[in-house]
Amino acid sequence: MRRFGTLLRRWFRANGRDLPWRKTRDPYRILVSELMLQQTQVSRVVPKYAEFLETFPTLHDIARARPKRVTEAWSGLGYYARARNLHALAKVVTDRGRNPYATLPPDAVSLRELPGVGAYTAGAVSSFAYERRAELVDTNVARVLKRVFAPDLVIKSTSGQKRLWAVARELLPRTGKATWTHNQALMELGALVCTARVAHCEVCPVRTVCATFAAS
Ligand code: SF4
Repeated sequence: MRRFGTLLRRWFRANGRDLPWRKTRDPYRILVSELMLQQTQVSRVVPKYAEFLETFPTLHDIARARPKRVTEAWSGLGYYARARNLHALAKVVTDRGRNPYATLPPDAVSLRELPGVGAYTAGAVSSFAYERRAELVDTNVARVLKRVFAPDLVIKSTSGQKRLWAVARELLPRTGKATWTHNQALMELGALVCTARVAHCEVCPVRTVCATFAAS
């Protein structure tokens, strides 16, 4: 497991894409990027992300906006429930816009109590904004972990999910700073190399420790 993490992070440092949300630790900006990326491709999110943050630079700005303005700013991305949840969350966190300094909590457990924040998003905000040792599993990460550590696992089953989250937890490096890199790297490997359509094992940095590759 340690070898997997070392190989993965080394690969990411040399090959990770230069994406705007990787240059910030602002929890609100990280949250916006994560919500946008949930159902939309990176290439479509990049310009929309910049535009949206220009309209609503802070959580407080969203909290004070009319619902219509928030959904208008979200237009083009679809799945408007995400925008509505973001608006509801901003109101909760900022006490209906009364507290301009309010920010998102740093730990995954508190984050999960907010509207529209599931286990994945909580782990993403905690590790990417606050550099906490928080694990995350999304579709890409689940596929990578299954292929490397548990080829027989059924991703959609309750026990499969439980096991994937446990593996993700076990894999976390010792520090929060390294966790930031580790989680970004896991997602990047699933997006670029170990993809749903093709597993590019010939260029994969973790093939020497991958159970699926060993069995092929
Ligand atoms: S070796 Fe192949 S199957 Fe294993 S993680 Fe890499 S791309 Fe995926």
